[in-house]
Amino acid sequence: MNSDHHHHDHDHDHDHDHPHAPPQPDDKVHSYYQILSIALKELLIEKGVVTAAQVRQFIEKRDSITPANGAKVVARAWVDPAYRARLFEDGNAAAAELGFPITGTKLVAVENTPDTHNVVVCTLCSCYPRDLLGLPPAWYKSRAYRARVVREPRAVLREFGTELSDDVALRVHDSTADIRFLVVPQRPAGTENLDEDALAALVTRDSMIGVARI
Ligand code: FE
Repeated sequence: MNSDHHHHDHDHDHDHDHPHAPPQPDDKVHSYYQILSIALKELLIEKGVVTAAQVRQFIEKRDSITPANGAKVVARAWVDPAYRARLFEDGNAAAAELGFPITGTKLVAVENTPDTHNVVVCTLCSCYPRDLLGLPPAWYKSRAYRARVVREPRAVLREFGTELSDDVALRVHDSTADIRFLVVPQRPAGTENLDEDALAALVTRDSMIGVARI
């Protein structure tokens, strides 16, 4: 099972509520979905579909993906206009160029400019460019963020400390099981002398989701 890919049915491990999910027990014991997940894993191993070592390797690989990967993509786009063009043309190919393969979903890069700001949400659940940024933060999956960022995005951004003036257009991108978004933040002024690694160190997770600037 590819944990980055889901169909909004019941084979995922999202921690948002399902309307028909049984009441959640307290956190001392396994939740409903944890029990399902353990049962499925044990069955797959028992039937020889996967080995325990393969499951462990997959989790280790998944956990090694951090926002630093996305930051390298952003920094390269800042310093290399040809790469930047390729990134907006084909996000998957551009990420793969830097050693970050993205499988099963399309990566779309969107660019913040002085006139336009972009912010990303998954209104349905928690779709996120996990192959590039790792696991999403808890607030990204919260019901409040998912509902409010489409209704009152400027108010939500203000709560993250991001004040957008009224003449800046704000675009909210709703992720799906197939399409994931990467916000390319504006390169800060005064960074002309920084090299690519130093630039990458400036790029935060939240700026690539679009709730913050740099
Ligand atoms: Fe989702």
